[in-house]
Amino acid sequence: MDTLSKADRERIIAAVDAAFDAQVDFLSDLIRCASLRGQEAEVQNLVEAALRGRGYEVERQPLDPSLIGRHPAFSPATVSYADFWNVIGIRKPAVEHGRSLILNAHVDIVPTGEPGRWQHPPFEPIRRDDWLYGRGSGDMKAGLSAAIFALDAIRTAGLELTAPVQIHSVVEEEITGNGAAMALAGGYVADAVLIPEPTDEKLVRANSGVIKFAITIHGTPAHPREVSGGVSALDAAVRLIDQMRTLEARWNEERPAKPYFDEVENPAALTIGTISGGEWIASVPSSCRFEGRIGFYPGDDPHERVKEFEAFVAKVSAQDPLVRRCPEPVVEWVGVVHAGYTLAPGSEAEDLLTQAHAAANPPDHPPLQSYVMACYLDAAVYAVHAGIPSLVYGPVAENIHAIDERVSLPSLRRVTKTIALFAAGWCGVRPAS
Ligand SMILES: [Zn+2]
Repeated sequence: MDTLSKADRERIIAAVDAAFDAQVDFLSDLIRCASLRGQEAEVQNLVEAALRGRGYEVERQPLDPSLIGRHPAFSPATVSYADFWNVIGIRKPAVEHGRSLILNAHVDIVPTGEPGRWQHPPFEPIRRDDWLYGRGSGDMKAGLSAAIFALDAIRTAGLELTAPVQIHSVVEEEITGNGAAMALAGGYVADAVLIPEPTDEKLVRANSGVIKFAITIHGTPAHPREVSGGVSALDAAVRLIDQMRTLEARWNEERPAKPYFDEVENPAALTIGTISGGEWIASVPSSCRFEGRIGFYPGDDPHERVKEFEAFVAKVSAQDPLVRRCPEPVVEWVGVVHAGYTLAPGSEAEDLLTQAHAAANPPDHPPLQSYVMACYLDAAVYAVHAGIPSLVYGPVAENIHAIDERVSLPSLRRVTKTIALFAAGWCGVRPAS
């Protein structure tokens, strides 16, 4: 901020205000693209056009599946990456003497659940009072709009950054993290990264490592008249899920020894996200498969946690009177296998964000607070594998991954201002040529 005059700050803030309706329109266009996994092409085309129209150098970066298992940032994937790509926008200054910056956002979203349970169709964004509704509004298309419009505001204010800035519009955050991994593997690094995930205008101090699994159990099918000869794969799966709560509790018990996590309610957060099984209403089911995720602490090796998980499943399956009548359950790794990260207090990047947050808001606004997020974040890719100071800071949103997801527009406006001031302060500015 020290490099920014009061007049520059005021012009940048005014530029965010002036373009805010256009920003909400752009965000609404992003939400209209139902960018579920494997369906991100439409939204990525839109982002690419938006960046090209603003004069960025743009690369469409395909995901290279051969890096899975070879590059430590990559996690297992179960889909073909033929139609998956990141959009990377870069702007380099004529004169370079500041610190470079990445603004990253993911465009993939999670399914809506039954659309009929939404007050409004999830892909028809609607503004009501201070909120914009729609799947992906908060997580995290608002953040993507903030990144793009924050940088716009600096230019509208008659300034240009004096260090390279990149916008990473990535895929796969909700499942593998391989979009961010690809950006990193492609050599797209910088002196800091900021990711405007919905964080209630707080800074993420640490996140959890996460592993995502699928477990398949095979039972013995039978006719209802001879039930005793069968073994229900569904019943066995329910038993196993119940047993797995012990592992969740055990991993949660480690939290007093883990920095920042001692007050997190459920760091492991074992979540069974899908289940399918059985073949016929009146048959003892022959198979059942369920998928889920479980978390652990920054500094833990995710591959050690994988081993611990597999050993646990094997042990309880051998002991449980029902599950042991089935062949040993098959555990597969189908998504993120990644470590968590911590943001060490006292970095210049954090210091500057604290100042930008204060400068973007009225004097009575609460100062920047930090907290722990017990979930996977793409920031972990940049932090763990490249040591890049990674700031996750974004708007207030509600019901993410739930029904009637919405983002607060006044909050989005504030966050856009903060990001603009942060980028200007971090990269440095000079009068536009
Ligand atoms: Zn997100």
